[in-house]
Formats: sequence, structure tokens, C-alpha cells
Amino acid sequence: MTAVPTRPFASAVSRWGQDPWSRGSWSLIGRHGSPADRVRLGSPVAGRLRIAGEATHPTRAGMTHGAHEQGVAAADWALGRGFTRVAVVGAGFAGLAAARRLVEGGARVQVWEARERTGGRAAPVEVGGGSFDLGANWLQQYDDNVLARVGEGIGLRTVATDFTDPLVLGPPVAAPDAARLRRELERRTAAAAPGTSLGHVVARWLRSPQPWTRQEVRRFVDAEVVLDAGASLSWLSARHGVEAGVGEGDRWIVGSYGLLVRHLTRGLDVRLGRPVRRVETTADAVTLVGDGHRCSVDAVVVTVPVPVLAGGAVEFVPPLPAAHRAALSRLGAGRVEKVVLRFERGFWPRHPSGYYRVHGPRAGEVSEWLDATPADGTPTLVGLFAGPWVERLWAGTDLDVAEAATGIVRAAVRERAGAPGPG
Ligand SMILES: Cc1cc2nc3c(=O)[nH]c(=O)nc-3n(C[C@H](O)[C@H](O)[C@H](O)COP(=O)(O)OP(=O)(O)OC[C@H]3O[C@@H](n4cnc5c(N)ncnc54)[C@H](O)[C@@H]3O)c2cc1C
Repeated sequence: MTAVPTRPFASAVSRWGQDPWSRGSWSLIGRHGSPADRVRLGSPVAGRLRIAGEATHPTRAGMTHGAHEQGVAAADWALGRGFTRVAVVGAGFAGLAAARRLVEGGARVQVWEARERTGGRAAPVEVGGGSFDLGANWLQQYDDNVLARVGEGIGLRTVATDFTDPLVLGPPVAAPDAARLRRELERRTAAAAPGTSLGHVVARWLRSPQPWTRQEVRRFVDAEVVLDAGASLSWLSARHGVEAGVGEGDRWIVGSYGLLVRHLTRGLDVRLGRPVRRVETTADAVTLVGDGHRCSVDAVVVTVPVPVLAGGAVEFVPPLPAAHRAALSRLGAGRVEKVVLRFERGFWPRHPSGYYRVHGPRAGEVSEWLDATPADGTPTLVGLFAGPWVERLWAGTDLDVAEAATGIVRAAVRERAGAPGPG
């Protein structure tokens, strides 16, 4: 018997929680918030400024196509007001979409981007000779997804993945009906009073979990909520903390979002490595101020992520209106991190959905894995981690994370096969 590879020959690890230009993975609604806060945040300020980005979409937040839609909407607003010189802050999907629409509408557009690349939280990387994503990887709600249509036009390869049919690795356990558990969670969250946290609802459910066991409810919550949010359940809104998106006709982009990002960036005037520090709005103009740079335009579309805005990285003069600041305080972001592992040989069982889940021994320890081997034929796993595992594993170096993640999935594969042994 040939030995199972103990280490990946190449790996990559995301650090969204520490990245100063994201400070988290995607926007979420806190216990005192609601989708109305997303709308408030995206409403025009002083006739010349508009915040766009995934966080401002009331029904498609936290997704690339939602960001794109909000970018287009902000651009249409600026064009509708007759502005011809517009600046866009941020070159993620919202910023790129806004800039493209503005250029199509005849405006002169400058995009200021803090990082040395475009794409924002779509972050393709080269790993062991292949292209993979450290951020967004799926086109969700595929049939009704504007980016999917763009992708089809440029020959993007996608594969349907069924999040509802993962192979759960680890010691074999009876799998309860997830659809029933989901209905029960929905019933409980819909009945929650405003201001109630998801943590409160889950704690009550765990006190009386019948007909399920506590472990079944706990695992369901870890997979459906913890991994989908990466935030503390006691902060998340019970009513609005679990939003639409994942599991609604997802298709994985084989390879990465790179092709889409390059396509949308083409022809735009994007200034890389140019963080905006201050946005000054007067009756006649808006001025962007960066490190040794400034520019005055008719209007600005700001697509900076919620935690970066809330952290004060951009100073608004005059300050954002109270309604916008209140909305920002009720929204936030969680931390879901990714690891890409490439092996000489695969060691995991095949599963039709190409999708795996691993639970740790402690509550909240959960990871999900996509078999990304179809990207170029090299055995590859892409793992998503949230909860306490992120806190613990991500304290180390990228190599530490890759090795620990490999250990977790390898042990779970062995346990599933009924052959527990030394790690
Ligand atoms: C791990 C992970 C997995 C995900 N998976 C999916 C998925 O499979 N499918 C999906 O649809 N979505 C997914 N998402 C969410 C998706 O990536 C985001 O919703 C989307 O990319 C957000 O686009 P945006 O333009 O609103 O923000 P961003 O992409 O964050 O763009 C904002 C830009 O603003 C820049 N910026 C910040 N501050 C400044 C400043 N002061 N000055 C200038 N520039 C600044 C940033 O560098 C960034 O480029 C995932 C996200 C993560 C982190």
C-alpha cells in the first residue's frame, strides 16, 4: 500500500480577518439590525456621495453579483443626476461595475483602489501552478446572476455544487434530515422578538432539542450558521442573521474568478495602491484625499467594506449622516477563512457533489471542503473554516495553517473509513 501524502506540495491561506481593506469576510446583520439598514447605508448623501458594495444590497448581500448590482445602481444614480466626472473608491465587483456603467454612460471615471490589485474580496491566487480563489469562488443564485451571464459570454467554466449534499467525514454518525432542521430553525427565528440574538434562539433550542439530539442540532447550526457567517451567534440577529444566497443554485468557478475580474477591469482608469483617507463633500464638488494625492469630481461612489468604514479608515467631511452611522453600527462582518491544499495524490473518497464537511470535537468547530481537482487534474482541496478553529489555527503561519488543516481532513477521512490512527 502506498503511503498517504502527509503534506500538501503547495498551499495558500486567506487572512480576511486581518486584512486592513476588508476586516472580515462579508457583511452580516447584528441583533439590532435589519435589511432596512442595508438600504439606509446605500442611500445618497448630500446629493453627491453614495455608498455601494455588497453590504448595501437588501436581498443579495455578501455575494459578488449583489455587489455588482449595487455598483450599477449607484452609477445610474450619478448618471441620472447629470454628473460627468465621477470617482469610485474600491475596485471590487461593486466598484468595477459602477465604473464600467459610468464609462458607458459617458462619464469620466477614476477608480482609487487601496490594494495593488483589483477584485477586492474576489482574490484569485496561483497555487502550485493552478489558479484558485482565496475569496469568492461560487456564482450563487446562478440562474438570476448578472455575473453568470457575463461569465457565459467570456467562456467561464463552472460546475454545479450541491451544498445540501456534503459527505460528512469523521466518525460515521446517523444523518438527520437537514431540511427538517432548517424548517425548525426558520420557525424559531421567525418567532423571535426584534433585538433577539441568534445565540439566544439556539441556546433555547439546545435546552430542549427533541426529536433531535443536542449534537445533531449543534452540528446543524455549525454547518448552516457558523460556517455561513463566521460571527458570534450572540451578535447575529435571530430574524435577519441568516440571509439568502448559499445553496440557491450555486456553481463553482473552475479555476478562479480571475477571468471575470480581468474582464471587468479592462479599459478602466484604476489607480492601484491608492487608499482614500478622506472624502470632503461641498455643495459643488467632492474631493478625495489620499497619501499625497487628491482629486475633485462631481460625485463619488464608495464601495469600501462595512468594517473598514465603521473602523474610521475613511474620514468623511462632513461626517456621514446619523442614519448612515446608525446603519453601520448595526451591520458587521464575520470571519470565514480559506485554505487551498494541493497534493501529489488524493486521499479522500469520491463523492458526487464534490463537497465534504468535517466537524471537530468541540462546539463550533466546523470546516467545509470542495474537491477542486477538476481545475487542472491535480488533487486539490479548498477548505472553508469558521468558528473556534479559525481562532486557533490562524494564529500560526500560513504553513502552520496548511499543515493543521491537512491534519484535520486526513484524520476525518481515516475515521470515516473506520481506521483511526495517529495523526
Ligand atoms: C472567503 C470568502 C468567500 C466568499 N465566497 C463567495 C462566493 O463563493 N460567492 C459570492 O458571490 N461571494 C462570496 N464572497 C463574498 C464576495 O467576495 C463579496 O460579497 C464581494 O466580493 C464584495 O464586493 P464589493 O465590491 O462589495 O467589496 P470588495 O470586493 O471588498 O471591494 C472593495 C474594495 O475597496 C478597497 N478599499 C477598501 N478600503 C479602501 C480605501 N480606503 N481606499 C480605496 N480602496 C479601498 C478594497 O481593497 C477592495 O478592493 C466570499 C467572500 C469571502 C471573504
